[in-house]
Order: sequence, then structure tokens, then C-alpha cells
Amino acid sequence: MQNLAEMIIVCPYCGESLDVLVDTCSGPQRYYQDCSVCCAPILFIVSEDPTGEIIVDVKRDDE
Ligand SMILES: [Zn+2]
Repeated sequence: MQNLAEMIIVCPYCGESLDVLVDTCSGPQRYYQDCSVCCAPILFIVSEDPTGEIIVDVKRDDE
């Protein structure tokens, strides 16, 4: 079963706020998702802090 959390991130390319669904059950992961505004590939880095809170980091492909 999947547990999807809705998060708001800011596209590192165009600066638009985006609603994204993050799978919080799969543990730390990295994946690309295209920005729905500018279509650039955003690198999502999902991690967990010591309290079990899910943290989503977004980066440009070239960083
Ligand atoms: Zn964008």
C-alpha cells in the first residue's frame, strides 16, 4: 500500500510553486519529475529526519 503526501515545492528552474505527491513509505529516494510549468527535470531528494518527518529537497539537474 502506498502512502502519498501532498507537498508544495518551488521549482528550482522557474520558481513556480508546485503541488506534488510524495511517496512517504518507500524511505529515502531520489527521482526526477518534470516541472508541470516549465517542463524541466527536477531532482527530488526524499529523506527522513531523526523524528521520522519526511523531508523533500529539490535540486536542478546540474547542481
Ligand atoms: Zn519549473
